[in-house]
Amino acid sequence: MRKITIRIDDVTPGMNAGKMIRFAELLDRYDIKPLIGIIPENRDGSPEVVEDRCDEETQSSIDFKWIRERLEGGWIAAQHGCYHVYTTKSGGLFPLNSYSEFAGLSFEEQERLISHGKKVLGENGINTKIFMAPAHSYDKNTLKALRANGFEFVTDGFGSLPYNMGGLVFLPISFLRSRELKTDKDGITTFVVHTGMMEESDFEEYEGLLEKYRDRFVDYSEFLKIPPVRCSRGKHYGEYLMAKGKHTAAKIF
Ligand SMILES: [Zn+2]
Repeated sequence: MRKITIRIDDVTPGMNAGKMIRFAELLDRYDIKPLIGIIPENRDGSPEVVEDRCDEETQSSIDFKWIRERLEGGWIAAQHGCYHVYTTKSGGLFPLNSYSEFAGLSFEEQERLISHGKKVLGENGINTKIFMAPAHSYDKNTLKALRANGFEFVTDGFGSLPYNMGGLVFLPISFLRSRELKTDKDGITTFVVHTGMMEESDFEEYEGLLEKYRDRFVDYSEFLKIPPVRCSRGKHYGEYLMAKGKHTAAKIF
């Protein structure tokens, strides 16, 4: 049975609070603990990240304290880049998008961004060995800079088991949700959620999925318990083509 975990991207102080809190409550109801990608020092002003900073109903907003409380309750932290600003037009090794905060920059520049982000999170009481690249884009220098900063895991890539690549363990994300839900094969994957982009219908869809596939959704910590498999050159190339293909298809349709 394919197990499914959830990761929430773009979690940061001042983020869209109402939708985040609503999704957090939905996960609480089903007792599911996700991975959250925390932007250390957000400079991305796009509406999907920072619109409606205050939840109308509860008048609360998201800050590092709120995030820390969630982590204390079993949510898992990933460092989601540094500033979440795309400065290059490179898709890197996993080209789902053709822009990046990291891919295409020198090792020194990437190392500086990653260590600064790590420092900011640390100052706010958050330490993690998991990295989540903004726009899923990273290159060999990103992986080198992550290793230099003590990171061990990257949430990305396709597949149904954690795998080793570039001296790090990759925790795959879902290529096609419907396929993951239909398969009778074992393994584990991740559904990627951007709460700031969720509409009413998305909340309803997630509620339906959590209800229907209650036994398939597991805490993200389950992922970290599974020993990684070796990644062959062929698998890596296949994953590159899948990401490239998905990017091209999204552009066409
Ligand atoms: Zn992001």
